[in-house]
Amino acid sequence: MSDVQREAMEYDVVIVGAGPAGLSAAIRLKQLDASLDVVVLEKGSEVGAHILSGAVLDPCGLDALIPDWKEKGAPLNVPVREDNFYMLGEAGHLRVPNWPMPPLMNNHGNYIVSMGNVCRWMAEQAEALGVEIFPGMSCSELVYGDNGEVKGVVAGVFGLEPDGSIGENTEPGMELHGKYVFLSEGVRGSLTKEVIAKYDLSKGKEPQKFGLGMKEIWEIDPAKHREGSVTHTMGWPLGKNAGGGSFIYHLENNQVYVGFVVHLNYENPHLFPYMEFQRFKHHPMVAELLEGGKRVAYGARAISEGGYQSMPKMVAPGVAILGCGVGMVNVPRIKGNHNAMLSGKAAAKAAHAAIAAGRASDELSEYETEVREGAIGKDLFKVRNVKPLWSKYGLTASLALGGFDMWTNTLGFSLLGTIGHGKTDAAATGEAKDHKPIDYPKPDGKLSFDRLTNVSYSFTNHEESQPAHLKLHDDSIPVSVNLPKYAGPSARYCPAGVYEFVTEEGKDPRFVINFQNCVHCKTCDIKDPSQNINWTVPQGGDGPNYPNM
Ligand SMILES: Cc1cc2nc3c(=O)[nH]c(=O)nc-3n(C[C@H](O)[C@H](O)[C@H](O)COP(=O)(O)OP(=O)(O)OC[C@H]3O[C@@H](n4cnc5c(N)ncnc54)[C@H](O)[C@@H]3O)c2cc1C
Repeated sequence: MSDVQREAMEYDVVIVGAGPAGLSAAIRLKQLDASLDVVVLEKGSEVGAHILSGAVLDPCGLDALIPDWKEKGAPLNVPVREDNFYMLGEAGHLRVPNWPMPPLMNNHGNYIVSMGNVCRWMAEQAEALGVEIFPGMSCSELVYGDNGEVKGVVAGVFGLEPDGSIGENTEPGMELHGKYVFLSEGVRGSLTKEVIAKYDLSKGKEPQKFGLGMKEIWEIDPAKHREGSVTHTMGWPLGKNAGGGSFIYHLENNQVYVGFVVHLNYENPHLFPYMEFQRFKHHPMVAELLEGGKRVAYGARAISEGGYQSMPKMVAPGVAILGCGVGMVNVPRIKGNHNAMLSGKAAAKAAHAAIAAGRASDELSEYETEVREGAIGKDLFKVRNVKPLWSKYGLTASLALGGFDMWTNTLGFSLLGTIGHGKTDAAATGEAKDHKPIDYPKPDGKLSFDRLTNVSYSFTNHEESQPAHLKLHDDSIPVSVNLPKYAGPSARYCPAGVYEFVTEEGKDPRFVINFQNCVHCKTCDIKDPSQNINWTVPQGGDGPNYPNM
């Protein structure tokens, strides 16, 4: 498509992705100068359709951006009232008291929210300030200027033929040029990945690490509902097989968010993260809560876990990477939305000052300095060793050591320095022959569900006539390498059942990509041990249609 002629539109700042980072940047730019031309492009059918978070929101980002958010009707309606932490065994649970936890783990003052709804509300605030927001517009390509700087993006390509060629019904999209382009695509953004590689932005940094987060919304028996209750668990069913844990947040209207995160650095390729999540709901403590209720929505999304030492350089000529494109999740707090918002605000400040000074298409190094040295850097620096300790020493030792390190960091020092992560999550995957297959119980259809039934509750939809947006660098690798060596792990790590190895008698196995099921979590791009899968955007408006995730 690179030789296609397209119309171009000129803006001051072009923002890719209407998550908390992108929308905060848009709002701040217009607050600073109402005359700036700012556009936000979002691949979801509407703002919020692709937003999946926990979410317990630390309002510090919103406080800094829109101090009167309460008066303006922001959907932060459920303050956290209780904070529970449990270690699970197969049949029992042990409450971990709150007092030994470092203060940063306290959820007092935070809110249980639907981040989808928060983003919908933020989009209204942005539009009221004059920001142009176009949902249903996937940004599929970067546009580079003559000096190699990022000049803009291509958005709105529709109707490609299944082989990727241009047909009668193809709309070639348009170019949106900006003095600066902000990539706020969230975790493992497709354009972000290109920019990081092109400008070698990860050089000298630790590899980014990830988890896979899966989440269901349940409507439960009102007698069991405790609005404002926050519960986290660790331990069963993952045990020694993988790091991770669960969250159970009681929001409004007798609804509960039930979520499960599996760290993607697990070695055993037989592990089936989705089935671990389903099994978790049969723990007596969780089953008791959910029995009699119904699951009303399902979704999944990767979460960045590398933290401070994994943040790549965030700027290159003409472009800045925001939010979880950089990886700004505070892992022990499982919180990144506040930092995403603060990063949007910081990028806006830097771009506004640069444009006011007559600059364009250069590096916004002031933004990077503010992220590393300001509130975001401080938040992430204190907890930088929690994830690598967990990866190296397992759950129990890391709880003690990580807790100790967070305490000392709260007091301003660390005895451990900064621990590295070592391998990427893809490289951490071991060979099938060295690991035992895991037997998972069949879903019962009441508390646990088969994958495809659950995917229908993500309301995902992809126009079938388009080319698959999940591209293989080498078509032969799934069957020739990944199947014999790793027992075909994509059939398990994908929480939406996109990948299948079909075996028919007398024929060679076939690798099938059911891209229609994709919920845009990006796990395949991260975990494929051969790094052979490239997640690219499908045409705009396709993908999940999450309600109040
Ligand atoms: C299971 C789970 C639980 C979590 N729990 C919490 C929590 O309780 N509290 C908390 O603070 N944080 C939590 N987080 C982390 C939090 O969700 C992230 O830190 C936050 O979403 C990052 O915001 P963002 O704006 O960078 O990216 P995102 O929220 O991912 O938004 C990116 C947006 O960009 C769009 N987009 C991407 N690529 C393109 C493209 N090429 N063209 C057009 N549009 C594009 C996407 O559709 C999306 O709307 C959780 C994450 C997960 C996965």
